[in-house]
Formats: sequence, C-alpha cells, structure tokens
Amino acid sequence: MECIDFILKSFDEFKKSNSTRVIGMGVGIHGVVDSEAGVSVYAPNLNWHNVNIKELIEEKISIPVMVANDVRLMAMAEMWFGNSKNADDFAFLYVGKGVGGAIVIDKKLFRGANDAAGEIGHSVIDPEGPLCECGKKGCLQAFTSEDAMLKNMKANLSKTKHLNENSTCHDIIDAYLNYSDEAAVLTVEKEIKYLSIGISNIINIFNPSLIVLSSDIKDFDIAVMNRISGEIKKSFGGVFMQNTNLCYSSLGTRALLNGATALVLSRVYENPGMLWDNKEE
Ligand SMILES: [Zn+2]
Repeated sequence: MECIDFILKSFDEFKKSNSTRVIGMGVGIHGVVDSEAGVSVYAPNLNWHNVNIKELIEEKISIPVMVANDVRLMAMAEMWFGNSKNADDFAFLYVGKGVGGAIVIDKKLFRGANDAAGEIGHSVIDPEGPLCECGKKGCLQAFTSEDAMLKNMKANLSKTKHLNENSTCHDIIDAYLNYSDEAAVLTVEKEIKYLSIGISNIINIFNPSLIVLSSDIKDFDIAVMNRISGEIKKSFGGVFMQNTNLCYSSLGTRALLNGATALVLSRVYENPGMLWDNKEE
C-alpha cells in the first residue's frame, strides 16, 4: 500500500538523521476513522474501506501508532496550541479540498456514536444544489470547497483582469482584497454567503463560545473574516457577537502536525506505561 510504504520510508529516514527517542506516531486521515482501533473505516479520496493503519505500521516498527480523523486532529491542535486553548467549548471548521468540522465540549472532542461528530461539510444547505463527493446534493462542501471556489471563478473568467484558468484559491482572495477584481468578488462573496450559512447552523445547534475557521489553501484575510461575521450578524442580530466569537486559525499548515503530536501526548498522559512498553530506542 503506497501510503503506508511512504510513512514507513519517511520514518526510517527520520530515524537515520535523528537520535531522539520516538514515543509514538500520530496519523491523520480524512473520512470516517475508528480511532480506538486505528482503522480507516472509509476514506473516499483514497477509496479505502476498513484499512487497519495501526496494524499495518506497527507490524513493521515497534512504536505505538495512533490514528484519528485529520480535521479532528486539527481541532485538537487548536485546543492545545492555538487560539482556542483557553476556551472550554468551541467548534472548528476546516475549509480546503474537503470541508470538515469538530466540536469540543468541556475541553474534550465530542466523538458521537460513529466517531464522526462535526461533519458539518456534509450538512445539506440546498437540496437542489451541486452534487457533493458524498453522493448527496447541496452539501456545504459542494458550495465552499477548493473545487467549488475554482469552479465559480472559472464560470466568471470573462469578468476578470487578474485571474486565469490556472489561478489558485489564494490568487482569487488576493484579487478580491487588493484589486476588487469582478470575478474574484463574485467568487469570494459566494464563498462568504455559504460559509456564513454553515457557521450559522453550527451556532444554532451548539451555541459555542468560539468558532475557529481554518484552511491550508485559502488564506482568509481579516477583511474576509469580518465579512463572514457581518453576514452571520445579519442572521442573528446582536446575539451572535455577544455570545459567539469567530476567529481564523493561527496554526495554518502546522495544525495537522501539531494535532498528531497532541494525539500521541494525550494517549501517553492517559497511559504513561506506554513509555516503558515502547521498545523503540
Ligand atoms: Zn456531502
């Protein structure tokens, strides 16, 4: 399995150039994950069904391997190292190739019956909307993912002076902020509209004190965040600003790595005996 081989090869290279003792390996993967068993139950982008990642790696190297959903790990990183480390409860929303979320209550990740709580990306906001990767129509992901944003931009190429077929989400936001480019404005305003609906739904269901928005491909400037807050305020009036704050993640692309570290450390703190069971020197 190519992915597992890559992890093993990278670990081998790390060990060759570092004398640091390794106490565990944290692995983040998209989709539905049984984190207790270390199994990827369903990873649509890789077409994996019931792949036991923990077992496949542990049979090759003698360190404990812990597996979790990638967005849940990012939320864990926020809890340990990010803007929400002082918040007892918060909701986390990641907007990238996919759109995912996580809910933290009393400083603990809320897992749900299927270890899949917080899948806000697949909540339907328009049943007549575009087809989503999951097979449903009109999910939040189908309106706000990287692909959706690029598709919206390409539909407005005749109205741009700064973008082209190969422009990235970062270019679109740059053209929106710095040039008020017409195609960029149409694209980003659509993104803002649908993200505001998704975030309003999170507030309606969980009423968290904080919502952290994160993306590794869309660098939302403070101006975009203020527009999203403004849209949400329109739905909630003054109540939103009194009770729920919205912020952009300060961890950026480090979120997933930080989260994998937090996962390993949290399991070791729960069971310090792992340090002595671990044969890796
Ligand atoms: Zn979906």
